[in-house]
Amino acid sequence: MTTTMESLIGLVNRIQRACTVLGDYGGGDNTLSSLWEALPSVAVVGGQSSGKSSVLESIVGRDFLPRGSGIVTRRPLVLQLHKTDDGSQEYAEFLHLPRRKFTDFSLVRKEIQDETDRMTGKTKQISPVPIHLSIYSPNVVNLTLIDLPGLTKVAVEGQPESIVEDIESMVRSYVEKPNSIILAISPANQDIATSDAIKLSREVDPSGDRTFGVLTKLDLMDKGTNALDVLEGRSYRLQHPWVGIVNRSQADINKNVDMIVARRKEREYFATSPDYGHLSSKMGSEYLAKLLSKQLESVIRARIPSITSLINKSIDELESEMDHLGRPIAVDAGAQLYTILELCRAFERIFKEHLDGGRAGGDRIYGVFDNQLPAALRKLPFDRHLSLQNVKKVVSEADGYQPHLIAPEQGYRRLIEGALNYFRGPSEASVDAVHFVLKELVRKSLGETQELKRFPTLQAEIAAAANGALERFREDGRKTVVRLVDMESSYLTVDFFRRLPQEVEKGGNPAASTTDRYAEGHFRRIGSNVSSYVGMVSETLKNTIPKAVVYCQVREAKQSLLNNFYIQIGKKEGKQLLQLLDEDPALMERRQQCAKRLELYKAARDEIDSVSWAR
Ligand code: GDP
Ligand code: MG
Repeated sequence: MTTTMESLIGLVNRIQRACTVLGDYGGGDNTLSSLWEALPSVAVVGGQSSGKSSVLESIVGRDFLPRGSGIVTRRPLVLQLHKTDDGSQEYAEFLHLPRRKFTDFSLVRKEIQDETDRMTGKTKQISPVPIHLSIYSPNVVNLTLIDLPGLTKVAVEGQPESIVEDIESMVRSYVEKPNSIILAISPANQDIATSDAIKLSREVDPSGDRTFGVLTKLDLMDKGTNALDVLEGRSYRLQHPWVGIVNRSQADINKNVDMIVARRKEREYFATSPDYGHLSSKMGSEYLAKLLSKQLESVIRARIPSITSLINKSIDELESEMDHLGRPIAVDAGAQLYTILELCRAFERIFKEHLDGGRAGGDRIYGVFDNQLPAALRKLPFDRHLSLQNVKKVVSEADGYQPHLIAPEQGYRRLIEGALNYFRGPSEASVDAVHFVLKELVRKSLGETQELKRFPTLQAEIAAAANGALERFREDGRKTVVRLVDMESSYLTVDFFRRLPQEVEKGGNPAASTTDRYAEGHFRRIGSNVSSYVGMVSETLKNTIPKAVVYCQVREAKQSLLNNFYIQIGKKEGKQLLQLLDEDPALMERRQQCAKRLELYKAARDEIDSVSWAR
């Protein structure tokens, strides 16, 4: 087998292993299960005590499986062999006991027995829940092997009646998958026509493409008989050649005959056998192991394109899930600060888009200036304030005991001041209206900042900081517009009034105007003069209030909404920063799983790339 292929099969093994580990947490990951299905594994099928566990053991080259007569294997054992560098320590690891390395293989056997008993009790019952075992060794080929309970014909004492069908359907579920390579084990000391292994494998693999016939117990055949008819394919034809095996007998097992000796004995058996000598290079456990690797190689080669596309699909899916979940949070304070600032900027960007256009909402500020403010100004009760009656009253009160001679200077001032006071209301209302628009835009923008979704604490802090800032801008805006109004009443436009007496004279006859002085027309004229002055001021405020509001509130919001927040954050320690970035633990867990898978698939993709290019 080429080293390239070795590494490819090794890679497939690693993916399978990782799939099982991750599958444990992930649950319902379709890609994982379809990836698993796309990868080949080897399953043993055969009657009880036909030698299945023994064959697997000799392929692995280590003693570690419980063997014996009766029903010994009672749960599926998924066995992954990982070839390691020469000279490295051999060890085994169970999926249910992560991080515990077994170097004593008799303890592995004990753990398989114990773990079987944990699920089924010390009974003769079976369980379909597999035990996952990995073996790391320089002396194995990369393979995934599955040991299964043996097929039986009758239930024995302590077994439910259904056991015969239960075992068959469990075994079937493993070997009917098109990705499984079937090792059909039949003992040579039984008629092949009665082989359970052949019966089942013919059902699930009628073409025989993925079935390997294995004949065990050649040494136990009756003297004077041999299995050449089977081994040479005359009794039952398969696509692949039959392989004969001599495993250790129960007596050997009891005597603790070790694997090396057993392999040597097997080699000797075939080399010196008068019946099988001519086949000796194609017999035995070592040859079977090579044959299987070769089969795996061709299966995997054929599957590379579909495995690659599956992996690429998984990577795409995981990448988009990662984007959705957000990337993991950095560990050092500097990077955390950076993350927080990035998140704030993302929010600010969206907020600005709302103001500047691109996103809706900023137009509502213009609406305040264009509709709300002018409408409010129009509604001010100047008619009442400048009614004939009120003008008369205000002017007379201002005159006191000496009625004015030419023009009621004080009266004018009082009327104007009184009128201008009305402007405070609409001015402050504009400030408030814009404040509420800004506040609403902050809320909207926070909701639209996808990156912030996973950090509810930070989101709340930003909201509080932004709203605090908006409150300050509102206060500033309010002061400024009130000041604008006050300014209008503190100094009246002289020009406007200089024109007034002339207009009076223009009225024609001065005598007539004198007689008119305290008549209704006179007060009406005063009212209308004040009204046109107030109208002029109103026009001015209609322009200056928006300027003040934009200057104090909108512009500030755009420029320095989070300035205070940034100052506060700059003072925070690592732990406080992390608190700001705290997120849902379930989400963190999911991201971790997702990241692990992503890493695995990416490594797998790289390896597959390099392997398939190396061909
Ligand atoms: P399984 O039930 O199919 O897994 O069979 P085991 O591997 O547990 O073997 C059942 C018994 O048959 C054990 O006692 C083995 O020692 C014995 N056995 C298996 N293969 C051979 C063989 O090739 N020759 C001899 N003499 N005994 C074997
Ligand atoms: Mg067994």
